[in-house]
Amino acid sequence: MKRIILLSFAILLILSLSVRLILPRELDDLSPAIPCDDSLIKKSDILFVIPNFQGKSPISKNKKWCRKILSFNKTLALHGKTHEYREFGEPRSPEYVHEAFRIFQDCFNKSPAYFKPPHLAWTKENDWIGKIIPVKLKANQFFHKVYHCNDTGFFPNWLIDLV
Ligand SMILES: [Zn+2]
Repeated sequence: MKRIILLSFAILLILSLSVRLILPRELDDLSPAIPCDDSLIKKSDILFVIPNFQGKSPISKNKKWCRKILSFNKTLALHGKTHEYREFGEPRSPEYVHEAFRIFQDCFNKSPAYFKPPHLAWTKENDWIGKIIPVKLKANQFFHKVYHCNDTGFFPNWLIDLV
């Protein structure tokens, strides 16, 4: 019995690691206010953008930055609105969320492809957001390689490169 459990665990681990090699690579925490190496952007497929980091300056005001990010020709996605701690761990109103979409659209002239809440904090009361855009939650980070600008993720970028 013990052997079967260990074997199933090993198979699951190998499967998830191989899935990470195939599925698109993601980059979290993209904002003009957070240092981000171009090499991280280049090796990622989906860029998760914070539209108004800490509520200080919406990305739509920095057209030069918007053009630069567009020039990488990657899939662009939304990463919360202000990226405050556990931002979507509490219920958010449609007005609050639409403001995030509006800033994103003003910057890139298109809609985001996905939504990922900051720190992956989520409450059931925000499930309605999943009806307007695909939402990526905790399991996503397990099956995808996810880099972080400024290397502030739970796992460091060098480790993400390895596994
Ligand atoms: Zn984040």
